[in-house]
Amino acid sequence: MKRIGVLTSGGDSPGMNAAIRAVVRKAIYHDIEVYGIYYGYSGLIAGEIKKMELGSVGDIIHRGGTMLYTARCEEFKTLEGQMKGIAQLKKFGIEGLVVIGGDGSFRGAQKLTAQGFPTIGVPGTIDNDIPGTDFTIGFDTALNTVIDAIDKIRDTATSHERTYVIEVMGRDAGDLALWSGLADGAETIIIPEADYDMDEIIGRLNRGQERGKKHSIIIVAEGVGSGIEFGKRISDATGTETRVTVLGHIQRGGSPTGMDRVLASRLGAKAVDLLIEGKAGVTVGIQKNELVYHDIDEVLSKGRCVDLDLYRLSQELSI
Ligand code: ADP
Repeated sequence: MKRIGVLTSGGDSPGMNAAIRAVVRKAIYHDIEVYGIYYGYSGLIAGEIKKMELGSVGDIIHRGGTMLYTARCEEFKTLEGQMKGIAQLKKFGIEGLVVIGGDGSFRGAQKLTAQGFPTIGVPGTIDNDIPGTDFTIGFDTALNTVIDAIDKIRDTATSHERTYVIEVMGRDAGDLALWSGLADGAETIIIPEADYDMDEIIGRLNRGQERGKKHSIIIVAEGVGSGIEFGKRISDATGTETRVTVLGHIQRGGSPTGMDRVLASRLGAKAVDLLIEGKAGVTVGIQKNELVYHDIDEVLSKGRCVDLDLYRLSQELSI
């Protein structure tokens, strides 16, 4: 392997830059040239490809977002789009590719490998919803951003005696809601992976009020429904003032935490090691603090579920 490419795709996440840096530095350490592909698969098709040097990735380890930019590209879902991408890679003499992104991006990587182009997936998403890894790059940063926001809401909640509903990201995955809710002592956490009973939630809020509880915090993962809707249902049923905060895209940004920078550095470097070993069509991950890799077909055929023990614990601690 003399020349590899790297791209970021789909939703960005803090730590993607640290992963790009690790890919570039590790490859150059092994005398392999690295080409950066800008704007994900759409830039791949368009040939937005530039050689990267050691200095190209200087001063980015602490920055959120992705210096290679990211995009969504419908055309890449077609065989024609994939073949155009492979033609570009060949034109630049690139022999292997590292794709940093979420499960959608991994489907693109799977297609490239199926068409004979060696590709490795590095899990970068704040949702923590990729099978084959305990954590994805960006989750820890987003978690801490959400915790910081809830802490601030908690201060004003204590002063005003209201119910607060906070909608956090997570269309299919409740990790961010669950972990932030547990970390912040939320009274109720509503996630897509577990059934909830609105009557039970309202009963609990009423009991809390009777006990003299000053405020309640309810975390809702966006996949379950709109926080605004939940807020309305709760205020109608309890007669208490309910405030809703939709955290939105602030959850994607910010300087990556130390955990995310180290994870990204380890996973990015591992992807290069695997390409050097001749591996293709795999995704890297971390399980029980060991670097691992799994067949991409296997990863994409599985669903990932939140840690239900953690969910039960959150319920036990919020009685
Ligand atoms: P994420 O990687 O964050 O899950 P998306 O689901 O939007 O984000 O996927 C990112 C990009 O990956 C898509 O815009 C598309 O270019 C590519 N992609 C997604 N699904 C497929 C697929 N089935 N085949 C080929 N490429 C795909």
